[in-house]
Amino acid sequence: MDTAYCKLDQKPYHIMTFAQLSDEEIQKKRRHLACPECGWQAYFKRAATSGQGACFGARPHAPDCSLAAPVSDRGPGSSEVRDILRNPMDHIVIDLNYGAHEKRHIDEEESDANGKAKGGSFSGTGSRGPAKMNRRLRPLLKGLISSEEFRRSSAMIELPRHTSLPANQFFVHFNDISEEHVNNFRGYWGLIFDTGMSLNGTFWLNTGEYDHLSVMVPDDLYADFKKRIGFRFDHDLEGMHILVLGHLRRAQTGKLYIEVESLDRCTLCDD
Ligand SMILES: [Zn+2]
Repeated sequence: MDTAYCKLDQKPYHIMTFAQLSDEEIQKKRRHLACPECGWQAYFKRAATSGQGACFGARPHAPDCSLAAPVSDRGPGSSEVRDILRNPMDHIVIDLNYGAHEKRHIDEEESDANGKAKGGSFSGTGSRGPAKMNRRLRPLLKGLISSEEFRRSSAMIELPRHTSLPANQFFVHFNDISEEHVNNFRGYWGLIFDTGMSLNGTFWLNTGEYDHLSVMVPDDLYADFKKRIGFRFDHDLEGMHILVLGHLRRAQTGKLYIEVESLDRCTLCDD
C-alpha cells in the first residue's frame, strides 16, 4: 500500500514522503504505523538492494479491509500453505528437519500403505479423523500471516518430543504476548520493525510498538543465521515476519525477549 497512518504524528504518509525522512525519524515513526483503512499495525520496508522499491504493508489487515492483498499463490511452499489453510482442523506435526524434508515428504506419500490420509493429499469424502501432516515452519508462518481462520484454529500443533497445543494457543503473535507467557515455550511470531547489534555481538530483531520485545540471536549463531536466512544487510530484515519456537524470557531490565536457541527453530518470510 502507498499510504500509512502514523499514530505518533496523527497523519498519513505517502511512501515517497516517508522513505525520504531522516533515518532517525524513520526509526521513531516506523513502529507506530497503521493501515489507513482498517487501522491494524503496518510496517515500512526500505527499498531493497534487489531493486524492489520501498513500501508499506500490514500483515494481517482486518478481515474486511479492502487494502489486504490476496494470498500469494507464487513461490516455493505455496502448496504447503494451501494445504494448511484448506484443512485447518488437521493435526500438524512441525518438521524441523529442513534438509531432509523434500525427500521424506515424497517417501511418505508413496509409502502410504496403511490407508491413512497423509500430508495434504486427502481427497476422500466420507468421515475421517484428523489427518496428520508434516509441515515446515515457513509455510506455517505464511499460514499465520494470511489466514485469520488458521490463527484461530484449534488444529493440534505438535513439536515431536516437546509439546502439543492447539494452534490458537501454540502460536502467539508478538502483540498478544502477556505476563502469562513468560518462561513458556511457544511459537512466537510477528513483524520485525528494526534490528540492532549489541557490543558483545548479540543480534536483536526488535518488534512491537515499543522497545520492550525482541528476538535475540546470540553472537555465536549470528553468522550461520545470516547464511541460512540469506540476507546481506541487517536492515534487510526490517518489515519481514519471523516465527521462533522458544521460551519467552524476561531480562533484568524488564525487557522481554525470545532467544533463538537453534537455527532450525526459527524462520522468516517476506509476507
Ligand atoms: Zn487494512
